[in-house]
Amino acid sequence: MRRQSQCDGGVVVAGFQNSHVHFTADEFANARHASTAALDTALTRMLTRYGYTTVVDLASDRDNTLAIRDRIEKGSVRGPRILTAGLSLFPPNGLPVYLDHMPKALLDKFPQPASEAAAREAVRKNFDAGADVVKLFIATPQGDSTVKRISADVARAAVNEAHARGKLAVAHPTDIEGIKDALNAGVDILAHPPLGAPIPWPDSLLKQMRDSGMSMMSTLYLLQLELDKQRVPADIATRLVNESAAGLGRFSALGGQVIFGTDVGYTTDYDPTREYELMTQAGLTPMQILASLTTTPASLWREQDRRGRVASGMDADIVVLSADPAEAPRNFAAIRCVIRGGEVIYSTP
Ligand SMILES: [Zn+2]
Repeated sequence: MRRQSQCDGGVVVAGFQNSHVHFTADEFANARHASTAALDTALTRMLTRYGYTTVVDLASDRDNTLAIRDRIEKGSVRGPRILTAGLSLFPPNGLPVYLDHMPKALLDKFPQPASEAAAREAVRKNFDAGADVVKLFIATPQGDSTVKRISADVARAAVNEAHARGKLAVAHPTDIEGIKDALNAGVDILAHPPLGAPIPWPDSLLKQMRDSGMSMMSTLYLLQLELDKQRVPADIATRLVNESAAGLGRFSALGGQVIFGTDVGYTTDYDPTREYELMTQAGLTPMQILASLTTTPASLWREQDRRGRVASGMDADIVVLSADPAEAPRNFAAIRCVIRGGEVIYSTP
């Protein structure tokens, strides 16, 4: 078996989870009818070639994501296991300015509940359709520089509905008030660290997050890409990225739980090498980065008995690296082979 021999040697670790992806790029459009080869290529290019055996889609066109998942699970297309937030929740009349470029037909589908009952209903419908996670855009920047917010009651109702079904809730925080709102609502995961926050997130707040068991996603490279896009001068951009990395690092040093996520699909540079470097700059050790990719998300999703480690009796989700990340964290991106549930879903050409 040529393909299997290509997996020989190297460094063996558990399959990775990227907990922040989107399927909104053009190559995933109309997934139900896309050719197998086209979908296979798109999934390989964005996800599988980087070792992800599980990904969490944090807001896309739900039915399209479910179609991708369906085609993977039926075995016609090779790809990761997909968990999805389906249609995420926004404040009433509160879609954020950074989604302006998305098709109106998609934006119109996103629930913007104004009451607890409407929030519960939106979450219930989402889960019934096949979603696995609730995502709250708890604070959304508007074109006029104001910020709209999901009210405390509505946010809590949505999170409670998720927890009642044994599901997790993720929030996009935007600012300090957004984090406080997320904490009050009982949100499990923050979708981002303090990306370019004008003032550092206070240690007291980071400790409160840690104590309530709230996890933080990395997504540091996202900030660098956003600043590049906005043509922010290099010295300022570097300072903002450094400060954000320091924020993630402080949270981790205080004992806060970090999980790996990149926001690929929203970003167009899919290579996570820089993310690994920035996490290292933040002070995370290679073992901590590995945990953020494997054991930590597995435990969060209460699947630590079946994935996240290489051990007998576990799902055979395995990544073979061609070099040791203990020597250089960029080697987490040196993927030789990716095995999901015992099947090779990627090997270097
Ligand atoms: Zn995102």
